[in-house]
Amino acid sequence: MWDAYVAPGLTMRSPEELLARLEEVVGSSYVMMGGAELATPYGTDWTGQYSAMPFAVVRPKNTLEVAEVIKLCRSYGAPIVPVGGRTGLCGGGVPVSEGEGIVVSLERMSAVRSLDQSARTITLEAGVVLQTAQEHALSAGLVFPLTFGAQGSAMIGGALSTNAGGSNVVKYGTTRELCIGIEAVLPDGSVFNSLTGLRKDNTGYDLRDLLIGAEGTLGIITAAVFKLSALPLTRTTGFLSLAALKDAPRVLNALQDRTGGGVEAYEYMPAAAVDVICRAFPETRRPLEAPAETGMFFEVASSRKDDADTGEDGETRLQSMVFAALEDLMEEEIVLDAMIAQSEQQRIDLWSMRESILESITENGPAYHMDISLPLAAVAEFVEAMDADVSEMGFHPLTVGHLGDGNLHYALSAAPGNEWAELPLDRAKEKAFSLLMQLNGSFSAEHGIGQSKLGVMRDLKQDSQLVAMRSIKRALDPDGLMNPGKLIPAE
Ligand SMILES: Cc1cc2nc3c(=O)[nH]c(=O)nc-3n(C[C@H](O)[C@H](O)[C@H](O)COP(=O)(O)OP(=O)(O)OC[C@H]3O[C@@H](n4cnc5c(N)ncnc54)[C@H](O)[C@@H]3O)c2cc1C
Repeated sequence: MWDAYVAPGLTMRSPEELLARLEEVVGSSYVMMGGAELATPYGTDWTGQYSAMPFAVVRPKNTLEVAEVIKLCRSYGAPIVPVGGRTGLCGGGVPVSEGEGIVVSLERMSAVRSLDQSARTITLEAGVVLQTAQEHALSAGLVFPLTFGAQGSAMIGGALSTNAGGSNVVKYGTTRELCIGIEAVLPDGSVFNSLTGLRKDNTGYDLRDLLIGAEGTLGIITAAVFKLSALPLTRTTGFLSLAALKDAPRVLNALQDRTGGGVEAYEYMPAAAVDVICRAFPETRRPLEAPAETGMFFEVASSRKDDADTGEDGETRLQSMVFAALEDLMEEEIVLDAMIAQSEQQRIDLWSMRESILESITENGPAYHMDISLPLAAVAEFVEAMDADVSEMGFHPLTVGHLGDGNLHYALSAAPGNEWAELPLDRAKEKAFSLLMQLNGSFSAEHGIGQSKLGVMRDLKQDSQLVAMRSIKRALDPDGLMNPGKLIPAE
């Protein structure tokens, strides 16, 4: 349990008085207390593994109100837990202990402040849902690229605070790379604003970068400016069966080289993952007839008009480029089989299959999920060694991954005939993390640390980095009120 900044002063003083003053700031309808109706949305995280009721939930409507709320909480010693869409997977958006502190929900701050066509940027408040941002950009003929399974609920502030990734980081980068400015309220209640839209601003430490990925421990993000991209005019989407996982980087690079870096998604979906999806969603159509032990879902896109033109053979230029790459790879027996979506519906079906994996694994039974990343060249070594070892221990590995970024979601479930509770989970985790360290991997690729990875953070993060992180936390949040018990492990 993280305790570095939980000083005795953290005890909330005069809670009833604090509530009355919060109501004065945001209005009594936007301060909620206790009651079962708060438990599911605000007292339990998406995984159901972390739950603790906050003392109250406050829903400010603008940055000024957020600043006033923070100042009040500070003066009454009340811990603050910022939340957005509450889809985080690490227990970061719920209090650590029952009745602790104030949840500050950004859901009412859901305005699209502006869209600049010429600069191709969009300024969004923290409570904008990702799908709304995507739709808004699309209506202006542009792309807001952040895409993942929870996009219908996850919000801008949450995505920034976890530095979310998703399925098309291989093309557009993580949330950090998409964001060029932030507005946030710091733990002392002051407002920091870098919503200038400038792409170049080398004027010292970048607070934007500090707040991205800070999981609400250094302040509350209230708005941000993002880069938008040109709308693809054509896409080629498909599913491949590779001879071996070690060849996955070669296939990725061949597709990139042929299409001028057009790969937007390159997702590892081995046969075991497709099986579990088909069990949970029986209407799912398997992309290939024979099970693909090393299945790979991919999408290539281009915003060049020429690439969208159809030739005499009925193929777009982009499709021809993809087919040419695949023909070479098949000749070399690196790619064994391929399915290419022939309609928008087939493309949507492939995407839905990819995005239903987490729900499918959850439905399948108890599982331990790892969100790890590795250098691309080391992915196959990790998967082969782990699969062999954990299978011997009685687990059934269920892996998918944003392979283009070396990001694996490696889940351990019980192999048929084994009881989950009797399996040596600690031994399997130890094996995974020591192998990861040997291969220069990371124990958290895109979901963050929250409460769930504090132990591994303490054990595996470089000491020099932990010391610097604690110093930054102490300097900006000396009372330790911002999202205590998350991200930074005890000394
Ligand atoms: C089905 C499913 C699929 C997913 N797929 C992916 C994926 O592919 N890639 C990926 O990266 N993630 C994925 N996630 C995880 C999750 O959706 C992301 O972490 C998302 O960015 C969280 O956004 P949110 O608005 O729900 O944040 P919340 O869960 O509300 O909060 C997450 C963290 O951010 C903090 N926070 C929230 N808002 C603010 C704010 N305004 N200021 C400061 N701190 C704040 C919270 O305190 C908490 O620590 C998935 C989740 C689900 C359920």
